Amino acid sequence: MTKDTTKIIRGFKDIYNDLEIKLLVDFETIISNISKQYGINELRPPILERTELFERSIGTDTEIGNKEMYSFEDKNSESISLRPEGTVTCVRCVIENNLIYDRGIKRKKYWYYGPMFRRERPQKGRFRQFNQFGIEYFGFDDINSDLEVIMFGNRLFKKELGIKDAKLHINSIGNAEDRKKYGDTIKSFLKKHTKILTEDQKKTLNRNPIRLLDTKSETLREILYELPNLIDMLSIKSRKRVEDLLEKLNQSNIEYILDNSIVRGLDYYNDTVFEWKHKSLGSQDAICAGGRYDSLVNKIGKIDVPAVGFAVGVERVLLVLRESYKNAKENNIVVIINYAKKDSVKCLMKTEKLRDQFNKIVFYSTNSSSTLDKQYKQAEKINPNYILYFGDEEVRSDKYTIKILKDGIKHEQISESELIEILKRINKWAINIPKKKKNFYLGLRII
Ligand code: ATP
Ligand code: MG
Repeated sequence: MTKDTTKIIRGFKDIYNDLEIKLLVDFETIISNISKQYGINELRPPILERTELFERSIGTDTEIGNKEMYSFEDKNSESISLRPEGTVTCVRCVIENNLIYDRGIKRKKYWYYGPMFRRERPQKGRFRQFNQFGIEYFGFDDINSDLEVIMFGNRLFKKELGIKDAKLHINSIGNAEDRKKYGDTIKSFLKKHTKILTEDQKKTLNRNPIRLLDTKSETLREILYELPNLIDMLSIKSRKRVEDLLEKLNQSNIEYILDNSIVRGLDYYNDTVFEWKHKSLGSQDAICAGGRYDSLVNKIGKIDVPAVGFAVGVERVLLVLRESYKNAKENNIVVIINYAKKDSVKCLMKTEKLRDQFNKIVFYSTNSSSTLDKQYKQAEKINPNYILYFGDEEVRSDKYTIKILKDGIKHEQISESELIEILKRINKWAINIPKKKKNFYLGLRII
């Protein structure tokens, strides 16, 4: 049967929406800037790797390793796969290129960003191609490195992206023996409930019982609430570790929810595991997931390198940001109306100076060959919070005229320092959040 070649493959999507593109580009800038602040270097491994690499490290009893990978035979009969996640490829990359030892200036903290592929059922917040941003700390076994990784997430979500209601859920899954014991506890606990289990759940119960804890089924969740918490059954060392980490989070004023259902979908984690969740996303509510994975490097490269990191689901973060954009009353757009006849280049130079000072404000110039009235109409379409006027009088007297559209007040002939005080108030938005009222964004239509 011939397929309609103008139609995209199910679960994939085109990104052409102006706001989404803008949010993506801003997100990319933010992650690269924060990573610099923490001294984390970038890695760009390829998108295709040997299937065996993923199978061996992610585990074939997990959803990804079991059925979600896009794998195919290359022309030389070798099985290769589109990467379903970033950590494993980073581990392969740092081992192969010998990047993880403390030699000279070599770094051990890395970040990556790019598309991942999983053949899952498409739904809100779940795509077959999606982007992840992740950080990985190799060679760090101290609790402070778990804390720093969490602090990074806290900075990214709360301070930079302004997602104040993102919630950190945390748990510890201890060591392999702790998980085995807890798995046996789940198995015997569920013996009396086998009737309510689906075939898939029965399989998971047999192969990897603790994975049942992050089930989306409400019925099963209710039943599992009766279980003792994994954290209360940990070995002494793991228990001490998680208690110390929670104490450090308290000291750092980072709020968290201790959550027994956080167990992570991949095989390679131990001790600290966490997710950031956002309520607006429905059942796909995790925007970031991570934890400690001390045995993964050994599994792939036969060397012991403890590690900790996380991965952010970028599309889900954008969904949250688009929601907050809908509710936002403020934006950081200043439209420049330049109607000076004599020395209009001075207006451009002054605007450049403002751009130097306020890197989070958008200064958007209208078409200066239009009349003052027409320029005002153009400005309205862009829907800014502020309009800055430059006429001959402003140029001559070195003063400024700014209109605050929110309250309709026009400040005429104010000094540079007065203007700067006003602009300081709107320099706080890292990401442009246009007002809801009109469907324009920097003069472009939002679909
Ligand atoms: P979920 O339980 O939501 O399937 P996961 O445990 O499979 O998540 P990870 O493998 O830990 O997720 O990936 C880290 C993050 O990547 C997730 O928290 C989520 O934000 C994002 N993510 C995972 N799968 C998808 C997908 N199919 N589409 C969009 N984002 C995804
Ligand atoms: Mg998944």
